[in-house]
Formats: sequence, structure tokens, C-alpha cells
Amino acid sequence: MKVSICTNRNVITPCGLENFDYQLDTYIGCEHYCNYCYVLSKAETNWLDEIQIHNNIIDQLSEELNTITPQTIYIGYNSDPYQPCEFDLLQTRNVLKLLCSRNFSASILTKSDLVVRDIDLLKKMEDANVSISFAFTDNHARQLFEINTITTEKRIATLRELSNNGVKTSAIICPIIPYITDAHKLIEMISPYAEKIWIYGLSINDKSDQNWANMLSILETNYPEMLDSIVAAIFDRDDLYWKYLSNELNVLKDEKQLNLNIHL
Ligand code: SF4
Repeated sequence: MKVSICTNRNVITPCGLENFDYQLDTYIGCEHYCNYCYVLSKAETNWLDEIQIHNNIIDQLSEELNTITPQTIYIGYNSDPYQPCEFDLLQTRNVLKLLCSRNFSASILTKSDLVVRDIDLLKKMEDANVSISFAFTDNHARQLFEINTITTEKRIATLRELSNNGVKTSAIICPIIPYITDAHKLIEMISPYAEKIWIYGLSINDKSDQNWANMLSILETNYPEMLDSIVAAIFDRDDLYWKYLSNELNVLKDEKQLNLNIHL
């Protein structure tokens, strides 16, 4: 994987998520290369070959932090902060160190178990949270759609380790790919280790986007007999698939008193 320097830009940017004013990405691009990723449509490099880092992220971030009050920064909106190269480059770890030293906190979204390396820093932050995303119980399907990610079992072990160390944890089941993602089974596996679980269906904004080209190719090759049903549900939120699933998950939520946020 080639790692290059990105063009000059702010490290901190406004965050559109509820409860967060600011976000940052320690990498531009994502080697995990999930074929459904909505960010692929604005990728600045071919993520299979090259990702980017900020030039001297720590000095720049330090200056930007001077302009805002201490608060929780969201990390992981446009790129996973725990890229395989983070093991050596320490971009995310050094950012967390800086945030910690300035009384900021972090809410992290990742698919990687490398986050456990930084438990020491997360424990020092007030209210730090790590959320891990999941979409598959079947490893063959995961490898088709998420080329460079770790297994669901390893992600659950990561949640467990974070939780055992006193770090707040949550999970995101996203995306639910109609007829492929087993949301019930995922909830059953994850819920003991996540304080809250958000659930979102696959969303494709534009059929000309890279993520839809990727998805269609995988679906046509590997799920030809289910293709029509899957495609119909992906592009119609009134499709019966979503209504049935939503009803079933709401029943499960009530029966098991689970903290589920269902957005289907
Ligand atoms: S880990 Fe997240 S940012 Fe990276 S490719 Fe997958 S969905 Fe996109």
C-alpha cells in the first residue's frame, strides 16, 4: 500500500452527526475497501493501491484545537482510523494522545481490532466511545463485500476487550444488504458487548456511483437467483422486506429489552 501526503486541508471539519460538532479523519482513503462504501464515490486515490495522510497532522491539529472548546470529536466518518498501516504510522494514536492532553475526547468508528492498542488513552478520556460496524455473519459473504476486514468474531472479541477495560462500546449493523445480512444473528452475537446498536439498511445514492458498480458486479456473480429481489429492496424503502424486518426487530427489541436504534 502506497501512503502519500494529501493536499492541504483542515484536519477538523464540521460533523453532521447528532451530538457531534466536529469530526476528523486520520487517513484519506481506506484500505479496508468495503465495496458498498458511500465514500468511494469521492475517493481521491484508488484505495486498493494508495491512501493518504495529512502532512504533520499533529502540529496542524494542535493549532485547530486552539479555536474550539474541549469536546468529543468523532473519528471514522470518511475513513477507518485503524488502517493496517496505522500499526507503524501511529497517526491515530498520536491524534488521541494530543486530544487527551488537551482534555478533548473521542468517539471512534472502526472495523479493526487495532483499536485495543489505544485502550490506555481511551480510558483517560472522559466519555470516550468505540463503535464497531458489522454486516455479515458469513465469512464468505464478508470477504466478497469487504475485501480487507477482520472477521465478525474478531470484531466481537474487540468489543469485549474494550468493554472489559471500561471503555464505552456500541455497534453499528450497517449496511443491511437485503436477504444477505442476518440482522437477528448479528444482534444476538453483539448485544452482550455493546451498550447500544444502530441498524441501517444499504443506501445507494446514485446508480452511477462506484459503490453500486461494485455491488452489482458482486451480486450478479454470486447471488444471481436472488438478484431481482435484492435490487428491488435496495432501491425501494417501501419494499415488504424492510417492513417485515423492521417489525421483527422491533419485537425483538421489546422482548429482550435491547437498546436498538432501528433506521430501516
Ligand atoms: S471501513 Fe468504512 S470507510 Fe473504510 S471502506 Fe469500509 S465503510 Fe468505507
